[in-house]
Amino acid sequence: MSAQSRAATVLRDEVLALRPYHVPSAAGLIKLDAMENPYRWPPELTEQWLGRLRHAELNRYPAPQAPELTERLREAMQIPAQWRVMLGNGSDELIQLLAMAVAKPGAKLLSVEPTFVMYAMIARYLGIEYVGVPLREDFTLDLDATLATIAAEQPALIFLAWPNNPTGNLFPVEQLEAIIAAAPGLVVIDEAYEPFAGQSLLGRIGEFDNVVVLRTVSKMGLAGLRLGYLVGAPAWLDPIDGLRLPYNINVLTQITASFALEHKPILDAQAAQLREARTVLSEQLQALDSIRVYPSAANFILIRCLGKAADAVHGELREAGVLIKNLHGSAPALDQCLRVTVSTAQENEAFIEALREALSG
Ligand SMILES: *Cc1c(COP(=O)(O)O)cnc(C)c1O
Repeated sequence: MSAQSRAATVLRDEVLALRPYHVPSAAGLIKLDAMENPYRWPPELTEQWLGRLRHAELNRYPAPQAPELTERLREAMQIPAQWRVMLGNGSDELIQLLAMAVAKPGAKLLSVEPTFVMYAMIARYLGIEYVGVPLREDFTLDLDATLATIAAEQPALIFLAWPNNPTGNLFPVEQLEAIIAAAPGLVVIDEAYEPFAGQSLLGRIGEFDNVVVLRTVSKMGLAGLRLGYLVGAPAWLDPIDGLRLPYNINVLTQITASFALEHKPILDAQAAQLREARTVLSEQLQALDSIRVYPSAANFILIRCLGKAADAVHGELREAGVLIKNLHGSAPALDQCLRVTVSTAQENEAFIEALREALSG
């Protein structure tokens, strides 16, 4: 028997249908496709960090509960003592653990569409039924449809990216409250873009018995570390933490993230700069009449090409040395849509120049 036919007999059908998550090469390009923070640390901070790493005990397993890092997170993010903090190898891992935790036969996972693709992908990996409620044409939430679908489907788990990715908008908090009140199970508020949004449900977890807040350090400037955190009541997080593989946060990440959080004002200042740059870039984009610009509370902006095809615009930007995300073809609602990460003034300028050029040609 060939390896191929043996694998085809043994592997689950949904696994055989999977393709690896494709990340295009960004070599030599201005990288505006993945919501990364463009700023580096000042040289003296890098020196201090390297000094801290000198004491890393690479021969030892990492601390399973990462107590020091958890303490730094509690201080830096003002997490009340009554809530548990669970760490993940990126918030992607926490999304996976949450889904695993509810995966009884027949359990459903619900979100809105379009949203962060990992919710549906992870549901598929685990054989959980995924229900996506379409957003309106302008990407606002269709509350009536969402509440009706919750009532009909009774999802065990609801994910709401707040602000939403890839649309960038922040649903009104009253709509979140209505969804939370209607949900029969757990609601995860995914606040990956909290540094750019100015709104959070973290301080209000205690008002509900079915809300946990998911965060990550990725979009605030530490994407390379792979560190996400989940905040919520012990009744939810203690059992779910049992699913976590014991050493999921490595020694280097624990040391580095603790160090970075001690210097959080630097990261906060970078986020403030990016929020200002977002305003400038939005205005520049709005001045172009062959695109539609969607409002953003995150560190990226979604646009829709109204004349020239998004594929062509994306390709010409790439030719000009600028990589953004082409969402055209990923979902009908994202027809002719492109997403650009807000970056430094210089990189934003290079992008807007290249875009003007592409749209005029
Ligand atoms: C980027 C993103 C994440 C993933 O964060 P990691 O911690 O890097 O895994 C989670 N949720 C949303 C909505 C995102 O856009």
